Amino acid sequence: MNRKYRGVIIAGNWKMNNTPSELKAYADTLKSIVGQARWCEVVVCPSFVMIPAAQKAFRGNRVSVGAQDVSAFDAGAYTGDVSARQLSELGIRYVIVGHSERRSRYGENDPTVNQKVRAALSLNLRPIICVGESLLQHETGVTADLVTLQVKAALSGVPDAQIRRVIIAYEPIWAIGTGKTATAGDAASVAGTIRAVIRKKYGARIARAVPVLYGGSMNADNAKQLLMQPDIDGGLIGTASLDPESFASIIMSARQENM
Ligand code: PEP
Repeated sequence: MNRKYRGVIIAGNWKMNNTPSELKAYADTLKSIVGQARWCEVVVCPSFVMIPAAQKAFRGNRVSVGAQDVSAFDAGAYTGDVSARQLSELGIRYVIVGHSERRSRYGENDPTVNQKVRAALSLNLRPIICVGESLLQHETGVTADLVTLQVKAALSGVPDAQIRRVIIAYEPIWAIGTGKTATAGDAASVAGTIRAVIRKKYGARIARAVPVLYGGSMNADNAKQLLMQPDIDGGLIGTASLDPESFASIIMSARQENM
């Protein structure tokens, strides 16, 4: 992290887990440990259907509720989609875009991700753009090239005025939900590559301000080491965010005094 230039963001991606009736117990536990965390921005991203209940459960605390996806389109005949305008009207600020599960299971590609990023930014949302390589790509050493392409494609047509709202999450696919984590050194190196892409396109001042998160089996044991890297400004957490105590431990790891 580099707190001089960027805020720290710890975001939980619940995926298709939890139900509205389970929210209160989760929220009560998380709030009791880190409900007033001032050292980082805490975000939980439940399924769309739980967003209002989650907002109610976290009201008055420093925990934002985000979304897991957003439509590439403004409005119309897109059954099952949820638009940026709908999210914005609910008071949502953060939305995950281009998660590897959306890419691999629902055929989202770089142009789709770009459309979604632009749709989110047009309504002042902050897209958390996920990029990352497969195991084969990791083993063949093409990670930096691939991530460079993904970031460039996701940011195509995004003007200077909007780029400061962008958050990039480096999520090696082979580390998601597997218990395997990138080494802090490797994650930091890819985060540095991402920042270099942004620097080349938008200049050094903007590149310094864009948060780059790491995601992929981050947990209470490895969070501190990852978050200590200067170019890693937080985490996108799946499995460990489902347990409020584990999620809270990661949030505590981001505390300056604990670094
Ligand atoms: C994710 O799905 O974004 C993720 C990082 O999951 P996990 O923490 O379970 O690897």
